[in-house]
Amino acid sequence: MASETGPSAGDPTLRRRIEPWEFEVFFDPRELRRETCLLYEIQWGTSHRRWRKSGKNTTNHAEVNFIEKLTSERQFCPSVRCSITWFLSWSPCWECSQAIQEFLSQHPNVTLVIYVARLYYHMDQRNRQGLRDLVNSGVTIQIMSVPEYCYCWRNFVNFPPGQEAHWLRYQPQWMALYELELHCIILSLPPCLKISRRCQKQLTFFGLTLQNCHYQAIPPHILLATGLVLPFVPWR
Ligand SMILES: [Zn+2]
Repeated sequence: MASETGPSAGDPTLRRRIEPWEFEVFFDPRELRRETCLLYEIQWGTSHRRWRKSGKNTTNHAEVNFIEKLTSERQFCPSVRCSITWFLSWSPCWECSQAIQEFLSQHPNVTLVIYVARLYYHMDQRNRQGLRDLVNSGVTIQIMSVPEYCYCWRNFVNFPPGQEAHWLRYQPQWMALYELELHCIILSLPPCLKISRRCQKQLTFFGLTLQNCHYQAIPPHILLATGLVLPFVPWR
């Protein structure tokens, strides 16, 4: 059984899986690693089969590599419906957002859902606008949460025998911080998440600077999930 032995030796996806250490370092929300890892699955037409693979950035960003590879595949048929899901360690930069939009406008039968572990240079207004444009053009963008980490571990990682259930090394609070910032981006609010790095110990610090507009526009449960915002208790 796969749950006791790890992915079986005959599993055709085995050679396309990444190693556990790669998954841990690429998708850790606290690791500001330079490279990008893209795990993707594609579903064609009404088929229930999902075709899974991974990619990384080369001289091009991982998103551009994906688009070039997909459109050059012999079996790529623009008239067939195609559902694509990406699990990206970094959210797309503004240039990739433009490339994705262009690709989708040329291929109306393609739908794209993007889960990201971290937001790439989220203070840069061009990157913020790029993500908003993607959302406005019908792309679903979400921060990876515990179910997505577990899903990727089971389906994209060459997990060790008996360890099909993924043990998350970090608190969901880190994901909640990015979730809050993604809301700010989509709602065109100013950034509230500050990330700094102490080079000596390679530690990453996360802080929040919230303004009235954040309290007014962000749903309370998103703010509370960060663990850094106290619930509002009315004074009696
Ligand atoms: Zn990019």
